[in-house]
Amino acid sequence: MSEASNYLASVRAKIVERDPNQPEFLEAIDNFFPTLVPVLEKHPEYIKANLIERLTEPERAFQFRVSWVDDQGQVHVNRAFRVQFNGAIGPYKGGLRLHPSVNLSIVKFLGFEQIFKNSLTGLPIGGGKGGSDFDPKGKSDGEVMRFTQSFMTELQKYIGPDLDVPAGDIGVGAREIGYLYGQYRRLNGYQAGVLTGKGLTYGGSLARTQATGFGLLYYTQALLDAQGEQLTGKKIKVSGSGNVAIYAIQKATELGATVVTASDSNGFVYDPNGIDYQVVQQIKEVERGRIKTYADRVETASYHEGSVWDFDVTYDIALPSATQNEIDGERAKRLVQNGVTVVASGSNMPCTPEAVTVFHEANVLLGPAKAANAGGVAVSALEMSQNSERLSWTFEEVDERLKVIMKNIFTESAQAADEYGFDKDYLAGANIAGFKKVADAMMAQGV
Ligand code: GLU
Repeated sequence: MSEASNYLASVRAKIVERDPNQPEFLEAIDNFFPTLVPVLEKHPEYIKANLIERLTEPERAFQFRVSWVDDQGQVHVNRAFRVQFNGAIGPYKGGLRLHPSVNLSIVKFLGFEQIFKNSLTGLPIGGGKGGSDFDPKGKSDGEVMRFTQSFMTELQKYIGPDLDVPAGDIGVGAREIGYLYGQYRRLNGYQAGVLTGKGLTYGGSLARTQATGFGLLYYTQALLDAQGEQLTGKKIKVSGSGNVAIYAIQKATELGATVVTASDSNGFVYDPNGIDYQVVQQIKEVERGRIKTYADRVETASYHEGSVWDFDVTYDIALPSATQNEIDGERAKRLVQNGVTVVASGSNMPCTPEAVTVFHEANVLLGPAKAANAGGVAVSALEMSQNSERLSWTFEEVDERLKVIMKNIFTESAQAADEYGFDKDYLAGANIAGFKKVADAMMAQGV
C-alpha cells in the first residue's frame, strides 16, 4: 500500500474508533477516500498537515431538544441537530431535514457531502447540515408551525448570515422556511440572509424552488453533450415527487425527454406518455396528498405499490430524487438490464457502494449527488448575494447563472477525473474538484 492509502486507512480507523455507530457517515467516507489516493500521492503536504483527519471531524456539531404541543394539547419531544462541518471557504451552508430517520450519522453524512458540493458551485459557502427526527407526515399546519418555532427558538443562537445559513431539505419546504424565518425575525429582527429558500415576498430568490430539479437536468445535459448525445428523445425514470423530482420532470420534459415515473414512500405511478409535473405539484405541494391519486386523474397512468426501481421497463436515464440508498446492488443490476446508461442523482447518496460498483462495471455513467444536485444550494448562494445587495434578480438571470454553474461543475469534475486517472468517473472527479479548493483554503489558513 502507498503512503497515501496507509494514511487514509489510519484516518478511517480513527473515525471508527471515535464513533463506531455511524453507518451513513462511514458510507460517505468510503465513497470518498478511494478517490483521494492519487491526490494525496501528488500532494504529500496534505498528509503532513493531517488534512484528512481535520476535514472529517466537524468544526462544530450540536444536538438540541425540541418540545412542542400537538392539536390535542399533548406535549412531544424531538431531537434535533446542526453540524457545522467546514467553514474554510465561507459560512456554513446546508439544509434542514425533517424525517423520522434523522440522526447524527445521517446529518454528518449530509454535512460532509455538502462541503464538496458547495465548493463545486464555485461560490463562497462552507458545508453544514441539520434536522430533526420529527415526522411532518400527517401533522396539521398548526403542529408544523409550533414545531418549527420551537426548533428555531434554539437554533437561532447558532446561525447568522455570515455564520451559518440553513435552508430546506426533505420535509422542509416553503411553508416550513416561512415559519422558521418568522420565528428568527421575532427573536432577532430583520435579517434576510439567515435562511434561504424564503418566499418571494420576504427576500427569496426567483428560481430557487426550481433550482435543484432544473440544475439536475442542466448537469445531465452537459454529461450527455460530452458523450456526443442529447436529452431529446430519451426515456427517463424519476423517483420521488418532492421539490427535486417535480422540477426535474418539468425541465426534462421541456428539453424533449419523456419522464415515465414519479413515486413516494408507498409506491409509484407509471405513464408511458410522460408524467405531467403540474399534476404531481398539485397533489404533493397543494393538497399534500399521496402520489397514488395521480392515476385517478390521468387516464394513461397506472399506480403500483413498491419501488420504482423494481419495475421493469426499458429506459435510458435514471434520476433518483427520493432519498439515500434507494438503489442497492440488486436494483443496480436491474437498471443495467433495463438499458440504463446514465444515473444522475437528484437526492443525496441514492446509490449504495454495491450499486456504484455494478454501475462502474457496466460502464453506466454516474452523475454524483454533490455535482448533479448542487443547483439548489448554488441558487441558495445567489439568494444570499441578492439579500446582501438588497436587490432581486429576474428569473431569467438566476436561471442563466444556474446553467453556467452546472455546466462548470460538470466540466471541472470531468477535468479532475481525467487529470487523476479516473476515466469518465465523474464521481471521483467531483470528489477531487470539490476537495481541492477546500484543501487549499485549509492549507492557506494554517492549523
Ligand atoms: N438541501 C439542499 C442540498 O442538499 C439545499 C441546501 C441549501 O440550499 O442550503 O444541497
